[in-house]
Amino acid sequence: MMRIGFGIDFHQLTTGRDLWIGGVKIPHARGALGHSDADVLLHAICDALIGALALGDIGTHFPDTDQQYKNIDSKILLQRTYELIKSKNYRVVNIDSSVCLEAPKIKKYFDDMRTVIAGILEVLPDDVSVKATTTERMGFVGREEGLVAYATVMLEKV
Ligand SMILES: [Zn+2]
Repeated sequence: MMRIGFGIDFHQLTTGRDLWIGGVKIPHARGALGHSDADVLLHAICDALIGALALGDIGTHFPDTDQQYKNIDSKILLQRTYELIKSKNYRVVNIDSSVCLEAPKIKKYFDDMRTVIAGILEVLPDDVSVKATTTERMGFVGREEGLVAYATVMLEKV
């Protein structure tokens, strides 16, 4: 039995914050604002995993009002989300994702991101696709006010 999930996440970009995307720290003058480390890609993947099994959304499981998640490494959130998926007897088949941001260019970090994500979810890097696009300078992403990530996951019952 197969299940598909879709996830989306947004964060503001601001000075004085680190920029974490896909579990990798990206050198940049601005970082993502959020209660946790604000890793937009890992959050979108968590949301997609939770969505695939119709278990609500990331906010239901990791509320941003909860102090235990303050500045938490989102790799821990992804690990906990995966534990939830495993507890329902599902495994990850593959993931496709896109990050939407104007700057910096993140292509050279894709392989590191895929390795980190695959390691947590017990799949191969070849099962994890990470892509990026700009919005051609349009909208809040184009003005570098924020960034967005989208993820689709396929799960299979074990
Ligand atoms: Zn988020």
